[in-house]
Amino acid sequence: MKIKDIRASVHTTSIEVPLLEGRVAGYGRAEQKEFVFCEVETDEGLTGVAVTGHFLARSVVAALEHHFLPVVADLDPREVEAVHQRVWQKLNPRTMTGVVSSALSLLDIALWDIAGKHEGRPVASLLGGARTQLPVYVTFGFPQYDRDQLAEAARLQVAAGFTALKMVVGVDGGGWREDARRIRAVREAVGGDVDLMIDANYLFTPTEAKYLARAVEDCDLTWFEEPLHQNDARALADLREHTSIPLAAGQMEGHRWRLRELVERRAVDILQPNPCYCGGFTEARKAAHLAQIYNLPVAHGGGWPLFSMHTLAGMMNGWILEWHLGMGQVGLQLFPGSPVPEAGKISLSGRPGLGLDVDRGALRDTLVR
Ligand SMILES: [Mg+2]
Repeated sequence: MKIKDIRASVHTTSIEVPLLEGRVAGYGRAEQKEFVFCEVETDEGLTGVAVTGHFLARSVVAALEHHFLPVVADLDPREVEAVHQRVWQKLNPRTMTGVVSSALSLLDIALWDIAGKHEGRPVASLLGGARTQLPVYVTFGFPQYDRDQLAEAARLQVAAGFTALKMVVGVDGGGWREDARRIRAVREAVGGDVDLMIDANYLFTPTEAKYLARAVEDCDLTWFEEPLHQNDARALADLREHTSIPLAAGQMEGHRWRLRELVERRAVDILQPNPCYCGGFTEARKAAHLAQIYNLPVAHGGGWPLFSMHTLAGMMNGWILEWHLGMGQVGLQLFPGSPVPEAGKISLSGRPGLGLDVDRGALRDTLVR
């Protein structure tokens, strides 16, 4: 079996956000307007699919169609190490990240989908098959909410069955003090038995992150995700020394050496390799193995749960899946019938490959020309 074609396209959509009027453009934060869909076809007619996020979306499409396809076109889609070796040698000899990592992620995910369909086994099973059901947290805490709406939105998600919630911080004009008030409002709204995570998406300086961590030490947070500019591993390690709140990071790191730095500098309690950004399942598996060696769990951040669920279910140190309300909705638009969380858990479908049926009409409706 050989790789025959790679097609990729930029898409946009809109989502419903609880308590907000009308639909919100994109799938979450203001910059998250576009995403990339990719399909890889083999000479035997099997196809695999993949999705990645908004970062330089048009450049990712151009990279796949103009640079990646000629380099990998004769390779067997199941021999992912050979594919990665070819890409590293021919396209990325200086170990860059960004567009090349996003493009490799799309290609690799689609190849695992093909391999699973060919074998008649789910990708999670090919990765090791540690489990078939995962705990789930919901990313509900959109920055558009005022403090009262945020607390109400948290209560709605608990009523819907979620037992773990994540909210964004670092986006409010009130600075870290208002973030602390928002965190406390959510904790008071949902009580002590719900897991609560916060995510700064790289937005704090080291001192701001220390002030916020100190202000909410008593709020029993499950983790503080990506608090610092640049995901600076040295500064994260320093923050870890100053707080009892576990730190999580790694969702947008573009290859295993960036993830290794987070582990080796003892910068994180939880590693978050996301196959949609780090170079696909092949690279996420290496990161998960690295984390195993250091007795660290791997959890999900960065969205696109229909893909990361296979990493977490496949690996023995896979932990909790993110159900991002925006990217969860986009996944259901593109792939109707795919798994959804129930009572704080999600069960994999058990279908071959990624187990996703593409809605061609939704693809056409969301296409950016
Ligand atoms: Mg995150």
